[in-house]
Amino acid sequence: MTDAYAVQGIPVADLADRFGTPLYVYDAEVLAETYTALRRRLHPAVDVFYSAKANPNVSVCAVMRSLGAGLEVSSLAELATARWAGAQPSDVIFLGPGKSEEELRACLEYGIAAVVCESLDELAALDRISRPGTRALLRVNPAFSTKGARLSMGGKPRQFGIDHELLLRSGAALRALRNVRVIGIHAYMGTRILDPDGIVQNTAGILAAARELSAELGFPLETVDIGGGLGIAYFENEKDLDLDQLTEGVNAVVAEFAAEHPGCRVIMELGRYLAGRCGTYVVRARYVKQSKGEWFVVTDGGMNHHMAAVGVGSFVKRNFPIRSIDHHDALADRRYTVTGPLCTPDDVLGRKVALPEVRPGDLIGVERSGAYGPTSSPVLFLSHGYPAEVLVSRATAHLVRHRDTVEDLLGRQILVDPPTTAAGGPETGTAETAPQ
Ligand SMILES: *Cc1c(COP(=O)(O)O)cnc(C)c1O
Repeated sequence: MTDAYAVQGIPVADLADRFGTPLYVYDAEVLAETYTALRRRLHPAVDVFYSAKANPNVSVCAVMRSLGAGLEVSSLAELATARWAGAQPSDVIFLGPGKSEEELRACLEYGIAAVVCESLDELAALDRISRPGTRALLRVNPAFSTKGARLSMGGKPRQFGIDHELLLRSGAALRALRNVRVIGIHAYMGTRILDPDGIVQNTAGILAAARELSAELGFPLETVDIGGGLGIAYFENEKDLDLDQLTEGVNAVVAEFAAEHPGCRVIMELGRYLAGRCGTYVVRARYVKQSKGEWFVVTDGGMNHHMAAVGVGSFVKRNFPIRSIDHHDALADRRYTVTGPLCTPDDVLGRKVALPEVRPGDLIGVERSGAYGPTSSPVLFLSHGYPAEVLVSRATAHLVRHRDTVEDLLGRQILVDPPTTAAGGPETGTAETAPQ
């Protein structure tokens, strides 16, 4: 007998039987290993924050917090999640280009480390509702852009942040603040960066921008958030970041900055890098069929839970690592297109995936799916709802989110009596003119 495909010794097949499929399984040990490996190597001036949007499950956030990570949140519910996960206010920042007044007030009430302001308008709005001493970071859209980011967030016209050039001319707006105290800057250049040099250059560029803006505009540098954007390898031709090379480069740049600005907190905020590797999306094959010479496995979950693996919008379809769970060490000598149950041709988890023979009822796992899984997928499409989520921690499996039920999905809706005629057909006139 061969070893079962397992998480901390618990066969994933048992988890699928116990909690049903489709199912996300997260491994707290992988979260800890990933965080610790980075933390051990990073310069002590750098605080690692976890970007909750990558995987906002409260138990995942609680693991990150227990490891020592701060939390970066972007909505009222994410802020409440940080609180629920037990985050200290001093280890929470809030960002996002369109914060509501309610969100800003919640940040003030919680007393978080800083609100990251993304426009001069927002800065003024925060100032109006604040008490003196409210800390803010200015999100800067840098004058440079980054190489190697799959999705670039800065250095071009964007709704995020304030253009570096514009900020340099905004001294009057900053001087007009009565309550908000600007304590530094934030910049985020893009996501899925796998080139260490690109990250080092971003860091150097952001720290240089921080120096310049603070000197020109006269605010202190108590905190500088250098973003991050560290990627993980998903596709065949990709390689994971070399952590030693990355941290050596980043640390050199940070050390120089820290020597000039002792006591300044440097934040690196990471979602995908911290959470991506910990998760597997587990689906069950329902039907196996052939169409025009191609083999298909139709499973019980797809793009409704895992848009990232489907990659809609990408020009070429590239597959996430997809494995057979029941026969994971059998020779993967077949090719299957693995689809979900939705009524759209886009619902393809993987095209021509190498797998051993698949039979109905077999389990298939999409690996490296701990970040941007259900949270960034159209979970309501075809009204399937959110999948169940399980966290394996200290060799124990915990259900950390119930799968949505039909009642959950319908309970938010309100049925209004449809307008009908006495005959029960569509309304053709007013009630008075309806036939007696
Ligand atoms: C999404 C986002 C992150 C997290 O990005 P990852 O690539 O998952 O690390 C961090 N900061 C900002 C501003 C973001 O928008």
